[in-house]
Amino acid sequence: MTATQDTLLITLTGKDRPGVTSAVFTALAQSGVSVIDVEQILLRRRLLLGVLVNAPRDPKKLRRAVEQVAAELEMSVEVETGTGDNRTRRAGRSHVTIIGAPLRASAMAAIAGRIADCGANIDRIERMARYPVTAIELDVSGADPLRLRTMLAREAAARNVDVAVQPASLLRHAVRLIVMDVDSTLIQGEVIEMLAAHAGFEAEVAAVTEAAMRGDIDFEESLRQRVRLLAGLDESVLGEVYDAIVVNPGARTMVRTLGRLGYRFAIVSGGFTQITNRLAADLGIHFSRANTLEIVDGRLTGELVGEVVDRAGKARALREFAARAGVPEAATIAIGDGANDLDMLEAAGLGIAYNARPVVREAADTAVNVPYLDAIMYLLGISREGDRGGGRRGGDRHARSPGLAPADVHQRQPAAAPAHPRPADGQVEDRHRAGGIALQQAGGGGRVAVTVVE
Ligand SMILES: [Mg+2]
Repeated sequence: MTATQDTLLITLTGKDRPGVTSAVFTALAQSGVSVIDVEQILLRRRLLLGVLVNAPRDPKKLRRAVEQVAAELEMSVEVETGTGDNRTRRAGRSHVTIIGAPLRASAMAAIAGRIADCGANIDRIERMARYPVTAIELDVSGADPLRLRTMLAREAAARNVDVAVQPASLLRHAVRLIVMDVDSTLIQGEVIEMLAAHAGFEAEVAAVTEAAMRGDIDFEESLRQRVRLLAGLDESVLGEVYDAIVVNPGARTMVRTLGRLGYRFAIVSGGFTQITNRLAADLGIHFSRANTLEIVDGRLTGELVGEVVDRAGKARALREFAARAGVPEAATIAIGDGANDLDMLEAAGLGIAYNARPVVREAADTAVNVPYLDAIMYLLGISREGDRGGGRRGGDRHARSPGLAPADVHQRQPAAAPAHPRPADGQVEDRHRAGGIALQQAGGGGRVAVTVVE
């Protein structure tokens, strides 16, 4: 079609019911028109369907046909004549993902205001998730994504929401490897502190961990200091600590959903292989890299075996896993919370600071501060509702698939009041102990079966 060709825009609004789309296109078919564009939005069972077609020889006949259909469906219809396709989108395109719990209208107003201040236009809006967070994706054009990111980051901090700005490119569809830190990212808390609690040195170790994660002291030295405090611990403590591990909410949903789509996962940790290898196997994570505690005669010696996985080592592991997964580094995502994740976040195509220390938040491409790891999916443009069996557009978006997996139970919690609620003990199913995960996943079915753990 040409830019000057006459076109008709048919806009139908009203209460949704089955058969609307079929009835409208049957009416349009009588005029022999071609479809140029279709958009459908469903909000609380209220439908808005827009169809752009080339103008037929007899526009009045088409108008009569769709008006009759609309009357039968008890819906309103508008038919507008015009020329050409939709307005061409301007250069400087971004995906802006807004995540709030709750997402207040005042936050939306502020963010939309800053987008307008940048001279940009919002071309499309779509909901990615409704619970436990509300996630909305905006397609924006007409602004430099980096400038937009700076503007919106300030507003996000002030409004207590997460806002991620990603340049719109095909690269988002190329992402195939997600590399996660473990302590305080994939799982709650720090394993070394749990081990230290058994050795009676929890407070001492926690103080060193905090300083290391802030970036105040060298990671390797701090790690060796802390591990020395564990000398003499019986190795059975590792099993006890493993059983006490709480996986962050949304982690299994994310691994399962994206795993089905062919994504690969890696964990890269300054923690210990005695824990991380089991975790990787239980969660269906493909690659894992961590430090190994030396054990002699069934007791921890207080030393580490081999090279220490530190800040630089984490970035090296990301590159190595990307090569093994056959994806370019630009097609990777890294998620972490501590200073020793900074190189890895930098090396990835998209670095995400997850409930991170300020030093990490400021350095990362984007920050997620809600305590749900599956929020990462919304940044990839993958909606939670798509996973639920409801359509991304149209259909009943509130529909649930009959076999709701235990991992998804946190969707059914009562609405959480605080802006960024941290789930309490026992409240969220995803906090199941790691040891129980394999069993639950077997019930969920369909996960990636091949697990390669070093
Ligand atoms: Mg961490």
